[in-house]
Amino acid sequence: MSRLDPRSWDAVVFDVDGTLYEQRLMRRRMLVELALHALRHPGQIGLLRRLQTFRRQRELIGERELEGARRLQYELPAERLGVSADSLSREVVEWMERRPLRHLADCRVPGVRRFFAHLRAAGIRIAVLSDYAAADKLAALGLEASLIVSGIDPDVDRLKPHPAGLEAVLGRLDAPRERCLMIGDRDDRDGECARRAGVACLLRRTSGEPEPGWFRTYLELLPGDARPSGAGA
Ligand SMILES: [Mg+2]
Repeated sequence: MSRLDPRSWDAVVFDVDGTLYEQRLMRRRMLVELALHALRHPGQIGLLRRLQTFRRQRELIGERELEGARRLQYELPAERLGVSADSLSREVVEWMERRPLRHLADCRVPGVRRFFAHLRAAGIRIAVLSDYAAADKLAALGLEASLIVSGIDPDVDRLKPHPAGLEAVLGRLDAPRERCLMIGDRDDRDGECARRAGVACLLRRTSGEPEPGWFRTYLELLPGDARPSGAGA
């Protein structure tokens, strides 16, 4: 794919959820964990609803491009649910950050580690821009980036598609934006964020039929001689 000609890029900025690992597979695994937890702890039957409310409200924070995402992500759903923001944040950290870590390696998108190695060998810097905290996820995926920025970092505090996070990445990379490529899985978030920052974007198709210009696994982006001969990457 000519857009990934190493001569064209100084840096690639990756989204995390749905881009580096299969989010649907992860959600199925976490639903099983939540169901087992509900059986063992019937008093916590509202946990799934609280997590779903958190996710829906967080989507709205991104959609409305609200400033103060770090604080609002807990305050808005907590108000709706009639619980404290602190107790909700503890549940979210446990169920959406800590517990998923052990499943991440199994959900890795095929070829992603090889693709990272390919970029590194070509002298292309790797950055990560996620709306969630990403350092632990990256470590659990067995991936390394030279820069990790989150939409909830105090100096960003806005979720995609607002370009503040990507601008922070570009500033720290100190690379011309026309030499940076963003890779994500949502056109309305990653794609829109990249367009507004004037950065090229490549999107991963996570379901449905393949479309021209989209990719499904990183094996498709590797040059022939860098593809694995057997399974696994
Ligand atoms: Mg994503």
